[in-house]
Amino acid sequence: MAELQGQVALVTGGSRGIGLGIARELAEAGARVAVVARDGARAQAVAAELPGEGHRGYGCDVADPEATAALVKRVEEELGSLDVLVNNAGVTRDNLLMRLKDDDWTAVMDTNLRGAFNLIRAASRGMMKRRAGRIVNITSVVGITGNKGQANYAASKAGLIGLTKSVAKELGSRGVLVNAVAPGYIETDMTSDLPEAARTALSSQIALERLGRPEDIAPVVRFLAGPGASYITGQVVVVDGGMVM
Ligand code: NAP
Repeated sequence: MAELQGQVALVTGGSRGIGLGIARELAEAGARVAVVARDGARAQAVAAELPGEGHRGYGCDVADPEATAALVKRVEEELGSLDVLVNNAGVTRDNLLMRLKDDDWTAVMDTNLRGAFNLIRAASRGMMKRRAGRIVNITSVVGITGNKGQANYAASKAGLIGLTKSVAKELGSRGVLVNAVAPGYIETDMTSDLPEAARTALSSQIALERLGRPEDIAPVVRFLAGPGASYITGQVVVVDGGMVM
């Protein structure tokens, strides 16, 4: 079912990993997708390979408020609308608290939390006018549980949950629905340096006894962007194979 036919979706961090999985899934659902990453050439190459027509790639650092405002304007002009925003771009700079540098804190907060704020603020104007829109923020189970060595990352992801719920309350009356998806441990570039022994140990703590894949996350985002989720807002959907219960 092409339930997003005629709609435009913007996916930050859509050039790799989970974001690429989401971009593909939304394209399969009929949306025209704006793929966004700092590496614009890669975003364009990815957009050209997505199923269907009319996708575009854009180079943009989500941490930059002016660049994100200009990006949204461009997408609305070039693709005609912006109906679904997926804030997926994210980075880690892991270290134990006492070893975290100021820059480790700022870099993670600026991309993971401020980036989502920048795009929500820019995109919600048009969504409110059209009295329709879906925003999906990719947080993490770590934002719920905390994690040793990830104080900056966990704080950014917990912040994203507060942002999701607040904006859901503000924009509900304008027909804009805002939710978060909290993946568990997903196999991407972000997690590729985990040693095999740690991978096995991790799997043993997951009810489904395996790590996740981008294809496990993308259909949930598609659902939250589509007609079946018309009465869901302000929620955090955990997709972690039963790691955290
Ligand atoms: P990934 O493979 O490292 O991909 C990150 C994507 O974000 C890339 O497309 C990257 O492209 C883009 N990006 C990074 N910083 C950016 C910035 N400042 N502006 C624009 N784009 C930026 O990561 P992933 O594992 O797919 O993770 C995707 C999201 O899921 C992140 O928010 C992550 O925190 C979350 N998550 C991941 C896991 C996991 O286990 N993998 C678990 C829970 C949550 P460029 O480098 O070209 O900018």
